Amino acid sequence: MNTIDVFSPIDGKLLKSYLVSSSDEITESIHLARDAAQLWADKTVKQRLACISILKQKLVTDCDSITDQIVAVTGKVKTEVVIGEIYPLLEMLSFYENNATKILAKQSVSTSPMAFPNAKAHYQYQPFGVVAVISPWNFPFQLTLYPLLSALIAGNAIIFKVSELSLPIGELIMQLIAELDLPDGLVHWVVGGSETGAYLIDQRPDLIFFTGGHATGCRVMASAAQHPVPVILELGGKDTMLVFADAHKQRAVNAVMYGAFSNSGQVCVSVEQLYVEQTIFNSFVDQLCQAANKLKVGHGDKGDLGVISSKAQLALIQSHYQDAIAKGAKASGPLSINGSYVTPVILWNITDDMRILQEETFGPLLVVIPFDDETDVIERINKSEFGLSASIWSQNTSRAEHVANQLEVGNWAINDVIKNTGHPRLPFGGVKNSGFGRYHGAEGLRSFCYTVSGLISQSRYVQEPNWFPYSNNSYQAMRAYLDTLFSSDNLWYRLKRNWPALRYYQKYSALHLTQHWQNFIIIILRKLN
Ligand code: NAD
Repeated sequence: MNTIDVFSPIDGKLLKSYLVSSSDEITESIHLARDAAQLWADKTVKQRLACISILKQKLVTDCDSITDQIVAVTGKVKTEVVIGEIYPLLEMLSFYENNATKILAKQSVSTSPMAFPNAKAHYQYQPFGVVAVISPWNFPFQLTLYPLLSALIAGNAIIFKVSELSLPIGELIMQLIAELDLPDGLVHWVVGGSETGAYLIDQRPDLIFFTGGHATGCRVMASAAQHPVPVILELGGKDTMLVFADAHKQRAVNAVMYGAFSNSGQVCVSVEQLYVEQTIFNSFVDQLCQAANKLKVGHGDKGDLGVISSKAQLALIQSHYQDAIAKGAKASGPLSINGSYVTPVILWNITDDMRILQEETFGPLLVVIPFDDETDVIERINKSEFGLSASIWSQNTSRAEHVANQLEVGNWAINDVIKNTGHPRLPFGGVKNSGFGRYHGAEGLRSFCYTVSGLISQSRYVQEPNWFPYSNNSYQAMRAYLDTLFSSDNLWYRLKRNWPALRYYQKYSALHLTQHWQNFIIIILRKLN
């Protein structure tokens, strides 16, 4: 039996060993989930919400113990856990409690009286069935539970896989799930790393919700394409902050500290590149360096920045720093690494060939670049392969909004940073190499359903005008129908030239006018001659 040992990123001690799920267990989980999905989908949205309703209170009352468990696995500071791992879930649950029924309600649509006389039409949202949620290590609790709960509310069963670095969080999630009033077999946790994730995809869940790096996302999509299974990909970013000279400077400096260094920069929407208008560049960099020097590393309730949770990430941060310095970057200080703690560094004198400008760093390094011209800086930002999020800082919010609307990103904020991505009503997701598909908000809840469209005909005719047999008359009638409906000249002229051919349809309901009305139309048309 394979096992995975999970070590504390704080002191390297063994936290716990986990048995990797066998292929038989994963296959069995899919079968059980598929059976349970049927029962669950039959419940109303209100009933589903009632079944999970105690979770909100649990997250509040057990906040300390949940926080401690997340701190032990990730090495985050406690406030970071409450803000980033717990609070967004509470906002989401409250929003869906009040709105999910409406969001997922059947939608009636009007039908053309000519094409579908007296018919009724609607569309409705059908849960996919079994949703596989695959999540990363940086916010292992929130980034698993947010899609998991959204998919549940939408009526699906779930198989989830947390990162191999975060297995105790998978266990914690299963403990919380066990306290909910859910049908047996509705939620399953599979334990493992990349092979387990790949095997899970090959078992053909009905939807894959993947959050992780770009390279893994491409592999997930390639495997999913073999079946095919639809995928939503929430991938990495290289987020930008753009500061104009008229910005509120102290607020912008403090925001940079938070945007670039919260969770030690291990946030998909971390600010990794900061563009500052040339006229304030030097003084702004001075202020940034002073502010960065005041930040403290620590864990638990001490410090602002926790550890770098993954050893591979630590090595990448070091290589980005060394590459930039070797190519002429200036830095606020040396890259100070103590165990897994890394103190934040501001870098400037940046050139395009530096890796730190091309690749996601996912650590506490921030590059600062001056700009003169608005159009040039927008063009430069849009050259990035990533397109997750951006923030624009100016007291002229109309100008900032104009700039925001030209950026190729899935999310933006003006005069705020990161917090916007937790807004429960705003759909969240990326473009370009940052992925596609949305969760959060109304659109995000519907992402866990496919749309089914329905039409109810009221016709009692044995034949519809578009059915066989075809003839020259049917062709001329169809031409006349298109000309009457879609040409742009006056309706009377359209009717006048097409009426003879349109009479082909008179036996059908759309033109089943009484003889009296037909005669009336003919008289009017003759008068128009
Ligand atoms: P990762 O891509 O290495 O792993 C993510 C998950 O995929 C893990 O559970 C992993 O075990 C699994 N996995 C690996 N190979 C797989 C395969 N072949 N098939 C199926 N599953 C497989 O990512 P990570 O290092 O855990 O997380 C960091 C990355 O996640 C960063 O790039 C970050 O930007 C990104 N991220 C994106 C968002 C977002 O919402 N856009 C949020 C957080 C993190």
